[in-house]
Amino acid sequence: TGAFLQAMEKSRVLNAYVVETPEKAMEMARASDARIAKGEGGRLEGAPLGIKDLYCTKGVRTTACSNILGEFTPTYESTVTQNLWDEGAVMLGKLNMDEFAMGSSNETSRFGPPINPWRRKGDNAGLTPGGSSGGSAAAVSGNLCLAATASDTGGSIRQPASFTGTVGIKPTYGRASRYGMVAFASSLDQAGPIAKTVEDSALLLEIMCSHDPKDSTSLKVETPDWRSDVRKGVKGMKIGIPKEYRIEGLSEEIEALWQQGIAWLKAAGAEIVEISLPHTKYALPAYYIVAPAEASSNLARYDGMRYGARVEGNNLTQTYEASRASGFGKEVQRRLMIGTYVLSSGYYDAYYLRAQKVRAKIFQDFVGAFEQCDAILTPACPSTAFAFGEKSGDPLEMYLMDVFTVTANLAGLPGISVPAGLSASGLPLGLQVIGKALDESACFRVGGVLE
Ligand code: GLN
Repeated sequence: TGAFLQAMEKSRVLNAYVVETPEKAMEMARASDARIAKGEGGRLEGAPLGIKDLYCTKGVRTTACSNILGEFTPTYESTVTQNLWDEGAVMLGKLNMDEFAMGSSNETSRFGPPINPWRRKGDNAGLTPGGSSGGSAAAVSGNLCLAATASDTGGSIRQPASFTGTVGIKPTYGRASRYGMVAFASSLDQAGPIAKTVEDSALLLEIMCSHDPKDSTSLKVETPDWRSDVRKGVKGMKIGIPKEYRIEGLSEEIEALWQQGIAWLKAAGAEIVEISLPHTKYALPAYYIVAPAEASSNLARYDGMRYGARVEGNNLTQTYEASRASGFGKEVQRRLMIGTYVLSSGYYDAYYLRAQKVRAKIFQDFVGAFEQCDAILTPACPSTAFAFGEKSGDPLEMYLMDVFTVTANLAGLPGISVPAGLSASGLPLGLQVIGKALDESACFRVGGVLE
């Protein structure tokens, strides 16, 4: 813990942490030592972790990197973080993220973006660590914590993991409790870890997941011993390659990485089958209707009355308007406007309802595909880490970063991103493995071979 705290101090330029909690960390570490000395202790005893600023942490400022939450300091702990502390983990601080987890480059944070510890060969330009869990990815990749919590609504665990050479997994919807996680899009949000290895990610996920009566969508299922899956290999497994993911303009480099992954799995005894997920091309548009719609409803609570920053107006309506206009950043405002529009009467059927139908089709695509295979292999992201400002001017180009990841959220399926190679420019590239519902084991088995 001491070593990580020192590293954090020296690496503040990475802007990975938005709150550092050194005193709390040392206190937790000492308590952990005492438990170990008594021969007691949990599965994460003394492990120093960073926590995405989306998780409510009792007594520690939590703002989802939005001005609207001001200096909000929760009086309660999220279930996921409590599960980690119950196993002896140590909190180093809160990690940077896109405002309310909306983004793919972490450039929408009120605290400014974290910096990717990786650089292109022969080029010193600062690169984004991806988003929205950019702080988590930068901190794990830059050795500023052993592992971190993150969250994934449309790719925010898997894409930053791919950009930083780390491992990230989003579990099946309902495996991890959303209690105490700042909500973005409730039917898509899931907690998960970003870690250095597939095995670390399996251990962390095992502990983060639990049935929780405080979250009505939490599943009553046992959490398996995923760590033991990591070295089981893939002999006899059928791996599906969805032809629709070979999108127009896919770079040769990413195509080559995908082929390399296929070759590794074949060599390890897996059978490769071509599959079809015919509605893939509608996933991104459906996501960018469903997610903003849910966000516009979830974020209605930030009215300047109950939490955070208030800007006084002459009457209640003006106070709401002024607080929301100054408290929310541009991207969040864009999503709230889209969301409110697609839910409004007269447009609801044409947009929101249609998107929900598409979502059902995407789910059915996966059900059909999984009759032919045990897991699906795709690239994690269509690009390597990009420079600051490169895509922030064009929301559509930014949204394209999620093209391979949103399908798993829409269908509620588990997906892991594993570092699988380097680009010609020397940057990490990830492959994604999507599993059947509740079959994270398949993700870990395939991930263990790709790693
Ligand atoms: N990049 C996607 C978005 O902006 C996904 C974000 C996420 O998974 N939290 O909505």
